[in-house]
Amino acid sequence: MEQSMETWLPLFHNRPKLLIVDDQPTNIRVLHELFREECDVFMATSGAQAIATCQAQLPDLILLDVVMDGMDGHEVCRRLKADSVTQGIPIIFITAQQQESDEVLGLELGAVDFISKPINPIIVRARVRTHLTLKLQNDLLRTMALMDGLTGVANRRKFDESILTNWRLCFREQRPLSLILVDVDFFKRYNDQYGHQSGDGCLRSVAQALSELVRRPYDLVARYGGEEFACVLPGTDLSGAVVIAEKMQERVRALGIEHSASDVDNVITISLGVATLTPTNDLEFQVLIEDADKQLYEAKKAGRARVCSSAMSST
Ligand code: GH3
Ligand code: MG
Ligand code: MG
Repeated sequence: MEQSMETWLPLFHNRPKLLIVDDQPTNIRVLHELFREECDVFMATSGAQAIATCQAQLPDLILLDVVMDGMDGHEVCRRLKADSVTQGIPIIFITAQQQESDEVLGLELGAVDFISKPINPIIVRARVRTHLTLKLQNDLLRTMALMDGLTGVANRRKFDESILTNWRLCFREQRPLSLILVDVDFFKRYNDQYGHQSGDGCLRSVAQALSELVRRPYDLVARYGGEEFACVLPGTDLSGAVVIAEKMQERVRALGIEHSASDVDNVITISLGVATLTPTNDLEFQVLIEDADKQLYEAKKAGRARVCSSAMSST
């Protein structure tokens, strides 16, 4: 008996997205009928349309006809694999050509599998299920590998990746990159007073509060270390970053988490250091981190529960 897709679908939050590419609408209809229950099915009848749909929808798997008028399947595959946005999407070629050399070429171009026409529904379903499962598991593992287990925000590894990517992006576009470093005040005393479990809960609440203030797609809040967080803001200038930092400071105080052992308040507070830099050829992104760290140190020294910042304009 054929195993139902329902046994693995609950593992994943969203329905998998399947893109079917064929210049014969009848072929698409057959495949659509097979998968419409379990997947969000997208359809394209030309190579150009397939590429556009891929960029817009980022499907989890593509069933790609090889022989098509205009751009053929091999060329579509080449282009998708050459684009960092779409290169991770697995491709299964579907073709009436029976020669081994075609299959070899397809696999060399980076396809994960090869199905021959006329299609056998059981074979297609089984292979699609296998590759969708692998893709979604892979996505899930990647997400988990970049997430902090305690707070649910990005982890240090994701931060390192993000600051480097954004440094390069802002260098290319000659735009400012801002960094906010956040440190919970007197947190050792909080643990001593209320216990480590409460300390963990407090870090979760702080992480949540910080995330709520950072909403643009390329902005990031990450757990930088024990009770330290970092916020990466590409394209945001110093005054913009300071506004966000001030809001973070207010928001965390407004959580009203009792901290009777703190010298600055009777609730949990944070200190923040803000730095902004427009990347140049002779600067490394570490300079930005060092500067934000210096500002954080100043905030601590000046009495905690405040924002300190500096402009380091390279122009
Ligand atoms: P300051 O105001 O100068 O920042 O003082 P502080 O006590 O916050 O700074 P310190 O660096 O001395 O202490 C940080 C504390 O954070 C010590 C450590 O036990 C605690 N901590 C780090 N990671 C975790 C965690 O995952 N859970 C809990 N509960 N505590 C943590
Ligand atoms: Mg600290
Ligand atoms: Mg601290």
